Amino acid sequence: MNTKELDKKYILPTYARADIEFVSGSNATLEDLNGKKYIDFTSGIGVCSVGHANARVNDALCSQLSKITHTSNLYNIAPQAQAAQKIVELSGYDMQCFFGNSGAEANEGAIKIVRKHGERDGEIKRYKIITLQHSFHGRTITTVKATGQESMHNYFGPFPDGFVYAENIGAIEALLDDHTAAVMIELIQGEGGVEPQDKEEVQALEKLLKSKSIPLIVDEVQTGGYRTGEFTASQVYGIVPEVITLAKGIGGGVPVGVVITSLKEVLGAGDHGSTFGGNYLSSTAVCSVLEILEEFKQSGELATISTYFNQELEKFYAAHKGYFTSKVGIGMMCGLRVKDADTLSSIIQNARESGVMVLKAGRNTLRFLPPLTITKEEIDEGFKALNSAISRV
Ligand SMILES: *Cc1c(COP(=O)(O)O)cnc(C)c1O
Repeated sequence: MNTKELDKKYILPTYARADIEFVSGSNATLEDLNGKKYIDFTSGIGVCSVGHANARVNDALCSQLSKITHTSNLYNIAPQAQAAQKIVELSGYDMQCFFGNSGAEANEGAIKIVRKHGERDGEIKRYKIITLQHSFHGRTITTVKATGQESMHNYFGPFPDGFVYAENIGAIEALLDDHTAAVMIELIQGEGGVEPQDKEEVQALEKLLKSKSIPLIVDEVQTGGYRTGEFTASQVYGIVPEVITLAKGIGGGVPVGVVITSLKEVLGAGDHGSTFGGNYLSSTAVCSVLEILEEFKQSGELATISTYFNQELEKFYAAHKGYFTSKVGIGMMCGLRVKDADTLSSIIQNARESGVMVLKAGRNTLRFLPPLTITKEEIDEGFKALNSAISRV
């Protein structure tokens, strides 16, 4: 049986997969079974931040794996401690880390921290978590409930209680009460449709929450790891949240999720844990990926390539205003809103045929999350393919 047949027989049908099978990659270029090449403007949904088959990451991983892969969190783990130091230093915040294996798991950790923080002897229990409509926080039972999209709350109940959805940042204040444990937001909604929040509104929210001692959780699973130009989008927005979650881009393809927080005293031994989280494999990946990206940022290459990508995307947008209404996003997290949501899937399919991978977000956004290390040549080739794709919609 080929992969498609095996998949159909043995894999639960939870994904509407495109019938395409990649076998190798190099930076932002992928190759399929038939030897056809594609420019990757998706980086595996914001994961392969340093490109495919990054030699430096692979060398670090091979060297680590030849020594030790996993021991459990019952013992000291050098790469985990080093990854935590790197993450905290790059964030610029006075925080500590907990390592899990995915974005949803990082958010679960964040929720446990603020719920326990809200438990105070002799006081009203603070348990409510306010999230935004159109947000996306994950697929576990709790993070699905944290996700403010009613369409995702079918079938799986009863859900954990205490999640309240605000229509937008401005609507949060009216929902705060004595039971509010935290507010949880994405600074740029990713799955919701590449929707950046307004900087002044976010800063006003941060101030308001600080004045009421209510922690702010920023879900940076998609925005973190230099996707928006700084290590975190919180830095771009000039805020200091109490809790930040990271995942997708910081492991370069090795599964990892991290919650970082200044609420260091809340969780004690036994309150939270993970068998795999922060093992030698994933922590080595984090150390290597973040080292590469830190250098890339400091040398100015990240800013240069991000400017170039956005310039080319702007040109593409200007040339096809019949299809699109606006260009949105920050840094290398960009989108084009389509006029007619029905054209979106044919644009994506034509793009694939022309040799460029792009994503959908929300109902009407064509989304771009290229590897941060993409080259100008790869960008040029990608937009050439995209121009050809759109001429056939
Ligand atoms: C992808 C994503 C998640 C979920 O991450 P998983 O690794 O799939 O669990 C959570 N929050 C945001 C903002 C995301 O983009």
